[in-house]
Amino acid sequence: MALIVHKYGGTSMGSTERIRNVAKRVAKWARAGHQMVVVPSAMSGETNRLLGLAKELAPSQAETGYYRELDMLAATGEQASSALLAIALQAEGMQAVSYAGWQVPIRTNSAYTKARIESIDDARVKADLNAGRVVIITGFQGIDEQGHITTLGRGGSDTSAVAVAAAMKAHECLIYTDVDGVYTTDPRVVPEARRLQTVSFEEMLEMASLGSKVLQIRSVEFAGKYKVPLRVLSSFTPWDIDLNEEAKSGTLITFEEDEQMEQAIVSGIAFNRDEAKIAVIGVPDKPGIAYQILGAVADANIEVDMIIQNISKDGKTDFSFTVHRNDYARATELLKGKVLPALGASDIQGDTKICKVSIVGIGMRSHVGVASKMFRSLSEEGINIQMISTSEIKTSVVIDEKYMELAVRALHKAFDLDQVKA
Ligand code: ADP
Ligand code: ASP
Ligand code: MG
Repeated sequence: MALIVHKYGGTSMGSTERIRNVAKRVAKWARAGHQMVVVPSAMSGETNRLLGLAKELAPSQAETGYYRELDMLAATGEQASSALLAIALQAEGMQAVSYAGWQVPIRTNSAYTKARIESIDDARVKADLNAGRVVIITGFQGIDEQGHITTLGRGGSDTSAVAVAAAMKAHECLIYTDVDGVYTTDPRVVPEARRLQTVSFEEMLEMASLGSKVLQIRSVEFAGKYKVPLRVLSSFTPWDIDLNEEAKSGTLITFEEDEQMEQAIVSGIAFNRDEAKIAVIGVPDKPGIAYQILGAVADANIEVDMIIQNISKDGKTDFSFTVHRNDYARATELLKGKVLPALGASDIQGDTKICKVSIVGIGMRSHVGVASKMFRSLSEEGINIQMISTSEIKTSVVIDEKYMELAVRALHKAFDLDQVKA
């Protein structure tokens, strides 16, 4: 008998029929003798629907009070799906109880809409498990020190599940979703993408941070920190397939170097359309400009990703960087208002139609020429590279958004990631 955590995403919880299916699957695991904790997401589309209603009423309120209410609102999605799952389990003849984040409690900091989990008190959950109940805990939410409801950022139910598994020292955390594992790239964009049997923790961390939304990055961080055995698998297999077969399906995140997936040089390709580029034009090339520009941006709590400074001409240079698209308007306003005049720069140009494409692989550590192969492959497709950044196990480029699919497909092929056709 083991303690197992299951997480079901929005699509997997998307209708009463699917919830019934989840209940039957969970009941199968519980009847096999496991102690079950289940973390569901809101039914698909629900979080967007709720946040859309808020936007209708107040399109661009930036005050903290607004974000508090957004969390109060969005958290209801998971409360509803969790209760429905408990009801479905009871209808299956199981004892089940659902808890909202605050009832566990899952304690977080107070950063509304992107709160971080600080601690989880598992006493109540343990007591229920020992009394033979299946325990359902809402994903995506917690409570701060002052008793306010918080949420963990989009896709945050993954993080709730892994954090619960870590706190309770679960035997394994199984992330059930609408694809049957982690692929070499998003299978919805590249049909030739291959499912990986295993993926190393480091690669998964890079893939998640570079845009592969199959796992929220913080869930991978938690798994790494607490060594939580983590597997991504499909919720769309028949619920009554053999449990041992199901337990071995999907993709396992591994922590051992020698278990690295297939020893490929490039293991996966990630992309992300969430960023926007800002270029400060005609900046006097003297010490302190990076600090003046990026310091002002950081003071406004805006995260900067890629940065590039051109060589100077006639004592002037251009300075470009990327931010999240949600922060783009605020960042440009801020620069125009304060920084541009102080610097004596001539203009600010922005581009929201960019995307970042990245190749990821542990094998890049020990191989040269990987980045140049990437650049060659993009140039053969006539795709212009606007920015580049590299680290030990990844290379990212910023390109025009309209070439995203073309670039991902070309790189997928160039690095031999395509599925071998039978
Ligand atoms: P859930 O609602 O279950 O949390 P998400 O939509 O958040 O599901 O994540 C699953 C989706 O992630 C898939 O439907 C797929 O389109 C996308 N995805 C992106 N990159 C990958 C990848 N490398 N492997 C698998 N899925 C990926
Ligand atoms: N329901 C939340 C979202 O849509 C959390 C999640 O699904 O993981 O982002
Ligand atoms: Mg998700």
